[in-house]
Amino acid sequence: MSKSVNIDTSNPDPCYRYKMPLLVTKFEGKGNGARTAILNIREVAKALHCDLVYLIKFFGMELGAQAKMDKIKNKTVINGFHDAKQLALLLDKFITLFILCPRCKLPETALSVHKKAVVTTCAACGYNGPSANQHKFAMFIAKNPPKPAKNIAARVTFQVVPTALAAETKEEAAAPEPDLDWATDTSAEAVAARKAEAMGIVPTALEMATIMYADDPRRFVERIKQDPTNLPPQADILVFLASAFATHDELGSRALFILNSLYEADILEEEQILEWWEASSTADLQVEGIRKFVEWLKEADEDDSDA
Ligand SMILES: [Zn+2]
Repeated sequence: MSKSVNIDTSNPDPCYRYKMPLLVTKFEGKGNGARTAILNIREVAKALHCDLVYLIKFFGMELGAQAKMDKIKNKTVINGFHDAKQLALLLDKFITLFILCPRCKLPETALSVHKKAVVTTCAACGYNGPSANQHKFAMFIAKNPPKPAKNIAARVTFQVVPTALAAETKEEAAAPEPDLDWATDTSAEAVAARKAEAMGIVPTALEMATIMYADDPRRFVERIKQDPTNLPPQADILVFLASAFATHDELGSRALFILNSLYEADILEEEQILEWWEASSTADLQVEGIRKFVEWLKEADEDDSDA
């Protein structure tokens, strides 16, 4: 059993709750047969809740060396000698790019592929948006998508139940088992509550709505309207919505309805929407509902000036 270290190892917090085994490596062979074995890659992948293949391919790509799994001996073998420190740094790089949430930096994430882009979904803070698509490894993930997690929150599990709210929601999770690495609490409220505890902030109404009602656009809107004081500035709402529409099919298909409802409720205003639209990237413009809504706004404007 190897020593356990933080996910990632640059994190100095001795009490950090997310741990993985330290990579155990070994030089083998010599000359042309020189290679480096990673003896515990399976355990590391498991701790990261990550597909084993991704780790192996990432090492290979970064080192420009052949890397493969020796299934019989249950170890990864990389051509050439690579010292343990270098491999540990590469693992941290992978973690920073594809395991830690881009927003809250916690590893409670799952990857998926949407329209050839890698998407990170975070059970801790509700982030659902682009992963490190600027890195060339994203292409490998896009071509070899992870198996779809049936339920992100259920797949990613946690060590302790952090809040009274969470404990109330799911009582059996309140009794921690010594061997259970990450215990489970899957309710949307508990997931959102974890963000508050982990980051010392309260999730916005928008984030709560997305966590709870991504598959129910009507209730999504109701949840936002219920709590208009706990919303970011309009420009941020629009950016958030565009990303939510792109990654949650149910919301995306009802973008027109959602934008219109928020506009009617004075949560979004015409000027802000048009300003955001002019500055938007082409990716946002692909959501048909957004385009239709903006067109409608512009037409309404023209009708007004005709009158
Ligand atoms: Zn997050």
